[in-house]
Parts: sequence; C-alpha cells; structure tokens
Amino acid sequence: MKIGFIGLGNMGAPMAANLAKAGHEVSGFDLAAPCPEGVNKAKTAAQAATGAEVVFTMLPNGAILRAVANDVVPAMSPGAVLCDCSTVDVDSARAVAEQAEAAGLGALDAPVSGGVGGAAGGTLTFMVGGGDDAFATVEPLFDIMGQKAVHCGTSGAGQAAKICNNMVLGVTMIATCEAFALADKLGLDRQKMFDVVSTSSGYSWSMNAYCPAPGVGPQSPADNGYKPGFAAELMLKDLRLSQQAAEGVDADTPMGELATALYTSFVETEGGLGRDFSAMLPHFEKRGRG
Ligand code: NAD
Repeated sequence: MKIGFIGLGNMGAPMAANLAKAGHEVSGFDLAAPCPEGVNKAKTAAQAATGAEVVFTMLPNGAILRAVANDVVPAMSPGAVLCDCSTVDVDSARAVAEQAEAAGLGALDAPVSGGVGGAAGGTLTFMVGGGDDAFATVEPLFDIMGQKAVHCGTSGAGQAAKICNNMVLGVTMIATCEAFALADKLGLDRQKMFDVVSTSSGYSWSMNAYCPAPGVGPQSPADNGYKPGFAAELMLKDLRLSQQAAEGVDADTPMGELATALYTSFVETEGGLGRDFSAMLPHFEKRGRG
C-alpha cells in the first residue's frame, strides 16, 4: 500500500519503520524528527498524504492534529483513510473524523497502548473508533504495527476506551503505591505484601505486572531507578483528557479527579517530571498524613 505517516517521534518513527519493513511504500513527514530507515522523506504533510491510500498521524495533542488535518485532508484522494493514532481529546477526534468524512474520506481514531517498546516490537494494542469499511482497510496495517486491534465503535470510541483505561491505571497505581507506603509503616515486609495482594482481591496490573516496589514482582521501571517506562507527565496528560471528557458529558469521576490532582502536583512541583509514573511510591514513602 501507499502510506503517508505524519509525526515521526518516539512512537511514530518505529511504527512507520515497521510498515516500510513489511514492504509498504511509506512517505513520512515531521516538523523536527528525522525520517527512519526505509521511509521516504516528504517536504510537507500534504506531500506525504498525496496519493496515499492510508494516512497515519502520531502527534502530541488535539490542537496539532486539527491543524495537520487542515493540511492533509484536501490533499487526500476520495476513498483514502485518515487514521489518527495519537492520544487526543474525544472532541478533536470526532471533529477531524467529520472533516475527513465530509471530504469523502474514511476516518479512524486509533490510539495505542504498549509504549515505545510496543511500537518498536510491533506489539501495540490499537483501540479503534470509526466506520467498518475504514477499519477493514487499515486492519492489515494494525496487524503489522501491533498484536491486537479492537474496533470499539464509531468515531471517538477509540479515544474513549484509551482514556477510561488510563484513568483506571492512574487510580490503581496510586492505590498500589499508597498501600506499599502504609505497609512499610505497619512493619509489613514488601515481598509478603506482594505475595498476598497479587494473589488476592487487591490484585491489578499495577501490582502484578508493573510493581512499583524495587526488587519485588517482575522487572519494572522501579528496578531501574524509576526511569520511564511510562513517564508521569504522559499519565498526567491522559488523566487530564479523562477529566475533560468527564466534564463534557457530566460524568462523576471522583477518583479520576483526585488522581489527576495528585499527578499534577507530582509532575509540576514534586520532582515527578521525567520519572516513571510508578515513582509515586518513593513520593508516598516520605509523606505523613499532614
Ligand atoms: P513525540 O513528541 O516523541 O512525537 C511527536 C512528533 O510529532 C514529534 O516528532 C514532533 O516533531 C511531531 N510534530 C509536532 N507537530 C507536528 C506537525 N504540525 N507536523 C508534523 N509533525 C509534527 O511523542 P510520542 O511519544 O511519539 O507520542 C505521540 C502520541 O502518542 C501522543 O499523543 C502520545 O500521547 C501518544 N502515546 C505515547 C506513548 C509513549 O509511550 N510515548 C504511548 C501511548 C500513546
């Protein structure tokens, strides 16, 4: 297939490279990042999109996605599909899909989970919103870049799934970290705490697969000085998107709201910037109730 790829950063570059490696003709554009091997460098986003059957975007936020869509939608041929893999607000995802569909294009929002490792290894999970035909067109490409693509519903459903999942993740990570800090103060050994909780009703992905306590459970960023991994500021971005969405539809999300507040102060004033999101544990260790 002829593919355009806009946004060749930490995630986009390895995703585009995997498509090229699989034999597709990929034309890439980024304002700053270099083109990965096998990808042809376009001079503009519109040039990368011209003649492409599928155009992927992998960009920092919804405002940038809307600006890029204004450039690429007019350059695309009717019947082609615009597939955004960035994590953005549901409103931007729906607005860009409407714009693309009004121009005779297919449109998908397809945010990912799996991080930079998953992008490099072709093991991402895609959560996809949009029409059946567009999904069928892009599905073979999802299979190259990932291990699973779930068609969640119409436009915006992929972003909705992503932010709901990450709201659960942010909340359970905080709960897991505060429980370890409480266990410390109660004199409970961390390994014993893990052995019990990971096989009892308190288990979660945060505890079992990504344990925030160094030397306990499987290898995780805690064992590497809390180097990300999944950076606290990226968790904060996703939590803020969850709260923006909750406000838009009048959903009561008190735990999501509190998790957003805790990650905001962690990232902005308490040294969390650039650390893994599980570094909430050393943060809680130092604190008392006051
Ligand atoms: P990144 O900052 O490394 O890459 C974004 C790229 O977009 C940059 O190279 C930037 O130069 C480029 N860009 C910005 N404006 C542009 C424009 N107008 N035209 C062309 N290129 C432009 O970010 P990333 O880590 O690759 O993340 C991309 C998206 O994926 C984000 O929405 C992020 O939330 C999401 N995501 C990231 C991870 C992760 O672990 N990094 C995991 C899941 C989802």
